[in-house]
Amino acid sequence: SVVVEHLTKRFTAGGTPAVSDVSFHAPSAAITTLLGPSGAGKSTLLRLIAGLELPDSGSVRIEGVDCTHLPVQKRGIGVVFQSYALFKHMTVRQNIAFGLETRKLPRGEVEARVDEMLKLVQLEELGKRYPGQLSGGQRQRVAFARALAIQPKLLLLDEPFGALDSRVRVELREWLQSLHEQTGVTTLLVTHDQEEALEISQHVVVLSDGRVAQAGPPEEIYDRPATPFVASFVGGTS
Ligand code: ATP
Ligand code: MG
Repeated sequence: SVVVEHLTKRFTAGGTPAVSDVSFHAPSAAITTLLGPSGAGKSTLLRLIAGLELPDSGSVRIEGVDCTHLPVQKRGIGVVFQSYALFKHMTVRQNIAFGLETRKLPRGEVEARVDEMLKLVQLEELGKRYPGQLSGGQRQRVAFARALAIQPKLLLLDEPFGALDSRVRVELREWLQSLHEQTGVTTLLVTHDQEEALEISQHVVVLSDGRVAQAGPPEEIYDRPATPFVASFVGGTS
């Protein structure tokens, strides 16, 4: 699980916090979405959990380990952003192997892991291509393979399909569900799309102005919104 307690982050001294006293719990092996409008603090929260930003106060625990002050590399996380810059001069295989290189695994083991990841994301045929020779959706699948290659305890996704057109986005949403069924990895997904959140996740944390407006199973958020904001943002009317 991921347990976040009283997390606060300000970018300007004395200004409004981007993340303000946020506490929530994301269960193990589930997909939890962080849902909210633009500027709600979703990406900042994800970056705090990843260790790409440090909080002013509060704590982050991943599978029982206090990670609040750990560097990114020690948190056991995989990350996929909206446009995850793959290395253009490296093949798909080399991109996927990248995170493994620092682990000093034997060559054979690296190759076997890359094969396994290519199979997992259904890109077995494309290992020798360069990112420039792939579609946007294929590129994001490579980004997932790279993130999962290190066998992370936690997968952090920030609008991973946000840059793609809506048809591909819906396809990849289903693809992500089946990927999650296969890996069972604890996943935190940032989205501003309420339909995506309700469809894909077992747990939803609704954010507004840097604060948690409501957290719970999608049905509960949809049927019993806790505030007018949640009702209008999540409800069928928006
Ligand atoms: P979006 O859906 O548009 O991606 P978001 O929910 O991810 O929005 P954040 O990017 O977390 O929102 O931003 C939350 C607030 O923090 C915004 O007011 C933003 O301007 C501010 N902010 C984010 N990053 C920085 C930064 N590096 N420096 C200063 N302010 C920042
Ligand atoms: Mg964002």
